[in-house]
Amino acid sequence: MWGLHYNINRGFVNGIIIIISTDIFIFSIQGNEMNIKEAKEVIISLGKPSKMPCPSYSTPAKLCVTGSRLRKVKGSTCHKCYAMRGNYLYPNVSSGLQKRFDAFKNPRFVEAMTLMIKAYASSHFRWFDSGDLADMEALEKIVEVCQNTPKIKHWLPTREVKIVSDYLKKKKFPENLLVRISAPMIDGKPLKFDYTSTVHHKESPIGHDCPSRFQENKCMDCRACWDRKVKNVSYHKH
Ligand code: SF4
Repeated sequence: MWGLHYNINRGFVNGIIIIISTDIFIFSIQGNEMNIKEAKEVIISLGKPSKMPCPSYSTPAKLCVTGSRLRKVKGSTCHKCYAMRGNYLYPNVSSGLQKRFDAFKNPRFVEAMTLMIKAYASSHFRWFDSGDLADMEALEKIVEVCQNTPKIKHWLPTREVKIVSDYLKKKKFPENLLVRISAPMIDGKPLKFDYTSTVHHKESPIGHDCPSRFQENKCMDCRACWDRKVKNVSYHKH
């Protein structure tokens, strides 16, 4: 056993990290905190979208509440959802997405996600590369994870307007969480929220035109989706 070790005293994690090869294990010195292996038993794993500069967390698109209705509407931003085709349909991928969806109901979800993000994200994190908020409980748990990881900028894109509106009637989001409400229709206007996104096809982009189509479908050094100075991000229709 060899490698780097140091004490960390952030949030609930209070232990020693020892690196063996490429695996990270966190050994508790207080007796009952979670380690990485246990965190993976709860949340399975984080995603690594090829486009993004950071890890993500995804659930099945087929379980999107608003998205499932929009998918039936021609011209909507969900009509030909990328997360309902290709790799997402492989049985092992599909079963992993379902387990990640179920994980939100696990009482140790917040603890597990906090530990995984501290271990694997360096500056940014994306929620729901596929899928969306299932309910208020999921949003409240995400907020807790963001509060536990103040050095990470979180971006949460969602179509679940009611859940977000109900939350904002009572509380504010933490500074490091940017929730962007996605417009339902291609070439539609942004919805009336502080941070939004749209999809353009025949119309001109509104606000920040996502540059990924000019740079091999990658974010490269763009971080507009996480940026509070950017009110609306406009993605070109795939
Ligand atoms: S706007 Fe920038 S950060 Fe957002 S998806 Fe496009 S390239 Fe990535």
